[in-house]
Amino acid sequence: MDVNIGVLALQGNVSEHIDAFRRALHMMGRGTSSEVFEVRHPGDLNKCDALAIPGGESTTISRLIEKNHLHEPLCTFSGGIFATCAGMVLMATYVDDVRIRTLGLIDMVVDRNAFGRQKESFEADIPIEGLEGGPFHAIFIRAPVAKWVGAGITVLSRMNQGVVAVEYGKHMALSFHPELSCDTRLHERFLKKLCDNNST
Ligand code: GLN
Repeated sequence: MDVNIGVLALQGNVSEHIDAFRRALHMMGRGTSSEVFEVRHPGDLNKCDALAIPGGESTTISRLIEKNHLHEPLCTFSGGIFATCAGMVLMATYVDDVRIRTLGLIDMVVDRNAFGRQKESFEADIPIEGLEGGPFHAIFIRAPVAKWVGAGITVLSRMNQGVVAVEYGKHMALSFHPELSCDTRLHERFLKKLCDNNST
């Protein structure tokens, strides 16, 4: 299956996700048959099998989603969503900040800045459920956590502050930044699950 991957390009780590997905596709031998491109408007979503919602500033991304009339189209998007950091905040059903209108695509309650401010950013090798090849070197920048997750959501990794990685159907949400490390295992896992789902 060819996969067309959009990266929501309103604010944040857009080019990093484009590069990471291109590297992941190359590792999976799909580099020539698949495309990765920027998404800014509702019509762009029609071309996507998957969408990345990058890290950045969730209040800003939420405002720009409204401005570009993307809220409803994102809520009804039928593909898989790979959401990191601010993206994870947007995927939730509830977040502790009234300025953000979440998409409600993963039933979880998120604490936006659970590890503190920018200067409290850190890196850690964390275990990810079912990920082959050992722990994942995760980069946390003003990272959120899920304080509660609903039934049917698979917790992939948890730290003292809360849940930092989940899978739900075709979606994956991570509170850290896999697009900033050269390890593409999580991007590949997301794509593999999407392709397996679509071929059954
Ligand atoms: N916690 C930040 C926010 O809610 C996200 C930080 C990030 O994406 N690096 O906007």
